Amino acid sequence: MSTARLLTVVEVSEEKKVLCQAEGCGRGVFKRIHVVEDQGRLTTLGESCFHRLYGHLDVDAATPQYGSWGGRRLTDAERQMLLENTRQFIEQLEAERLHQLEFEPRPVPAKGSTAGPQRSLKKRGDEPAKPRMGFCQWLEQLTPNQRQAFMIVRLEAREAFRSKYGVDPDLPGYVGMVNQSARAEYENNLKVAS
Ligand SMILES: [Zn+2]
Repeated sequence: MSTARLLTVVEVSEEKKVLCQAEGCGRGVFKRIHVVEDQGRLTTLGESCFHRLYGHLDVDAATPQYGSWGGRRLTDAERQMLLENTRQFIEQLEAERLHQLEFEPRPVPAKGSTAGPQRSLKKRGDEPAKPRMGFCQWLEQLTPNQRQAFMIVRLEAREAFRSKYGVDPDLPGYVGMVNQSARAEYENNLKVAS
C-alpha cells in the first residue's frame, strides 16, 4: 500500500518556474505545484504528473495537509526554501499551522456546554496539570535542530493518535492533544538522552 501523501499545493511566479521532479519529466511548473511525501521522500511535482503518479490516492491522502487546492503563491524566500530545503519548507508550514490552531477558537463543543474560551477537550487526568509554557511559546524557543527533532516526534505521535483512537488527529479539537503528547514525549526523550 502506498504511504504517499500530498503535503501542499503552491504557486510561484511564471518567470521563476521550478522543475517537476517526476522521473523523466523535468518540465518547468509554476501553478499548482504539488509537494508530495512518499516513503519519507519529498518531491515537487507538476499537476499532471501528480495525477499520473498519485491519482490512486484516497481523499485523505490527496487532500493538501497544508493550505488548499488553490495553491498559495510563495514569496521569493519561500520559493528559495522550497528548492533548497523542501523538508524545512514543510516544517515551516507545519509550525505555522500549529501556531494558528493553537490560537483558533475551539470548535463548538458537541454537548450543550458553555461556549466559553475553556478548552473542554483538555480535561484529562493523565495530562500534566499545568505546562510551564504555552505550546507555541515553547515551540518558538526551540532551536531549528530541536524543532526538527520535535516535528519527527510529533509526526509519530500524530500517527499513533490516529491508529489508537481512530480519529483524524488534524481536527482542531485533537491537535492540542497531539501537541501535548508529542511535547511530553520529546521532553522525556531529552531526559533519557542526558
Ligand atoms: Zn512533471
